[in-house]
Amino acid sequence: MSSKKQSKNANRKHHGRAPHGYGGLRPSKGLGQNFLIDEGIIEEIAEGSGAAEDALVIEIGPGAGALTIPLAERAGYLAAVEIDEKLIEPLRVKTFGMDNVEIIQGDILAVDLDEIIENRVSEHGLKSVRVVGNLPYYITTPIIMKLLETAHGIDSITVMMQKEVGDRIAAEPGTRLSGAITYPVCYHAKVSKIADVPRECFYPAPKVDSVVLRLDILDEPAVNTKDADFMFKCVKAGFSQRRKTLLNSLSSMEGMDKEKISTALDRAEIDQSRRAETLTLKEFAKIADILLEA
Ligand code: SAM
Repeated sequence: MSSKKQSKNANRKHHGRAPHGYGGLRPSKGLGQNFLIDEGIIEEIAEGSGAAEDALVIEIGPGAGALTIPLAERAGYLAAVEIDEKLIEPLRVKTFGMDNVEIIQGDILAVDLDEIIENRVSEHGLKSVRVVGNLPYYITTPIIMKLLETAHGIDSITVMMQKEVGDRIAAEPGTRLSGAITYPVCYHAKVSKIADVPRECFYPAPKVDSVVLRLDILDEPAVNTKDADFMFKCVKAGFSQRRKTLLNSLSSMEGMDKEKISTALDRAEIDQSRRAETLTLKEFAKIADILLEA
């Protein structure tokens, strides 16, 4: 983790009131609609996201457009993907006259990101791809996994998430805070913190505080492994029962049994009684490569 910043406006209170321009909105809890109302944080995200004239910015969940305008002012082209039909027309009105903005109605988990990226980058002669969003918290992990594993050409991902999820994402593998998501993030990206965001910065205020992290995608994955998907299956199995020893948790994988796992752990020189959260990414890669040969 690099740079630790606390928002300049961290202590500003909004007393749960909708800010100017949000009056007609009835935020949907089910869609994770907590709208940003803190100008300082909005600027910090736009500024820290790498949005620039040569960049395609993909915004996830533009909502009422709080981030959309400052991002579009900086970006070469901005494609914003919003699932909620009732927000599409207001977003189009809000960005009317900005000819570098495209509002796409759809589910970020279902849209073809490769197609969006390839077409917009070539059509507008852009050089980098920046994904930005104040994420709907109910699908933070699947969104990040989709961005890391299936979308090609992304340079950075700057996203707001619940603080506890951010702690896992930014954790060093092999430390107490690490979780299953820590390993694919560390494999693909370098993480830095843009800002801590207290709950008062949203309307309506959620029950939790948030953090904005930036994931810069590495040119090469952090470790060598024969099959990254298989390695992440091992990580998932390890963390699915994180209190259990590796010997027990990994034997629950399809096609594995205790004998195979025990032999592999011995060959990898990893103590069978260790738990997943104590393993580095390199150690998971070693176990996975040995198991693939077994
Ligand atoms: N960007 C706005 C802001 O900062 O004020 C809104 C952020 S709000 C936390 C999350 C937004 O994501 C909402 O507008 C919600 O409708 C949208 N959303 C929820 N699920 C989505 C999905 N699967 N695909 C795209 N957008 C989604």
